[in-house]
Amino acid sequence: MTDWFEIEKTYYMRTFEKVRLPVVLVKGKGAMVWDEKGKPYLDFVGGWAVNCLGHAHPVVVGALVAQAKKLIHTSNQFYTIPQLQLAELLVKNSCFNRVFFANSGLEANEGAAKLARRYGKLKLNGAYEVITALGSFHGRSLAMTAATGQESFHTPYTPLPEGFINVKYNDIEAIKAATTEKTAAVMLELIEAETGVNIPAEDYIKKVRQWCTEKGILLILDEIQTGIGRLGSLFGYQLYGVEPDIITLAKGLAGGVPIGAILAKESCSVFVAGDHGGTFGGNPLACAVGYATMKYIIEKNIAAAADRIGRYLMDRLYQLKQKQPIITEVRGRGLLVAVEFRTEVGQEVLMSCLEMVYSSIRSNPMPSA
Ligand SMILES: *Cc1c(COP(=O)(O)O)cnc(C)c1O
Repeated sequence: MTDWFEIEKTYYMRTFEKVRLPVVLVKGKGAMVWDEKGKPYLDFVGGWAVNCLGHAHPVVVGALVAQAKKLIHTSNQFYTIPQLQLAELLVKNSCFNRVFFANSGLEANEGAAKLARRYGKLKLNGAYEVITALGSFHGRSLAMTAATGQESFHTPYTPLPEGFINVKYNDIEAIKAATTEKTAAVMLELIEAETGVNIPAEDYIKKVRQWCTEKGILLILDEIQTGIGRLGSLFGYQLYGVEPDIITLAKGLAGGVPIGAILAKESCSVFVAGDHGGTFGGNPLACAVGYATMKYIIEKNIAAAADRIGRYLMDRLYQLKQKQPIITEVRGRGLLVAVEFRTEVGQEVLMSCLEMVYSSIRSNPMPSA
């Protein structure tokens, strides 16, 4: 058998050295994945919140194959149907009026920050600062590294672009104190996902919305992880009784195909010809899969399933917590769920989960097709 670990070590940059598990995955179906030796695993990673319909879902695969045969890519110099269908579907199922498509989460966030700067120049006397939260994660471009409120992401890359102010999360007073005549927007996650599913007080987002309205500045919600049904509603903001000015989406939007999106209210959709663009963003392949995925999620109310299954999962995790004093907390909303341990045993737990093969899983041979 080819030693893929050795090949990775030799040829790939060392970026994933610490996160990669000693498993070479070759196949997936539904909630299952198989490694090259045919060993099955129940997949709780979901491609970092991407595979929202599971692996090899017929709706995703069907749309991908059909569109690949028709037209994979043109350019934004032409109208293409899937892009416009997906844009219309997103607008009709949200509080927003306009859409722009990108290729990833960071690219959507970067675009949203640019939109906030255009808005600041046109409507707020040149205000350009974006207030973000400590413990947030917004992506890995230089600007989004600055937006990300984690010191460890900053230090290797200084000097970072200016104009991003990181303040305490779940603290409306911290946002108020940081707001000046230079502030164009506040950008937040509804739940800080990457740093451990940090859930703010129930009225935090509402208070931030009120403050942004009072000051005439934009509220941007990074829904890259909380959107697409994850929290039990199609978009997370719908659970909090607020309407942001802008949200960003990516991850599950096209069921596994790379895509990102900015959704904005008409009042702040101030981009005009030449202000923003991209070669791949909004191409027919990604958008056809995005359209099929989103249509299915909406029509089958997959968000309600995430709510139901999330409650079941949390219930069972609470039971486990009763028996395992090493578990200090179980928290989450929908299918964004965290288990916190008393000591640093996360990696050990992960490794034993990889080892364990329950009989109900072992009886699943790798599908040949
Ligand atoms: C994953 C993620 C991003 C970055 O998305 P990429 O596609 O990896 O660039 C940004 N914000 C949040 C909240 C995310 O979870």
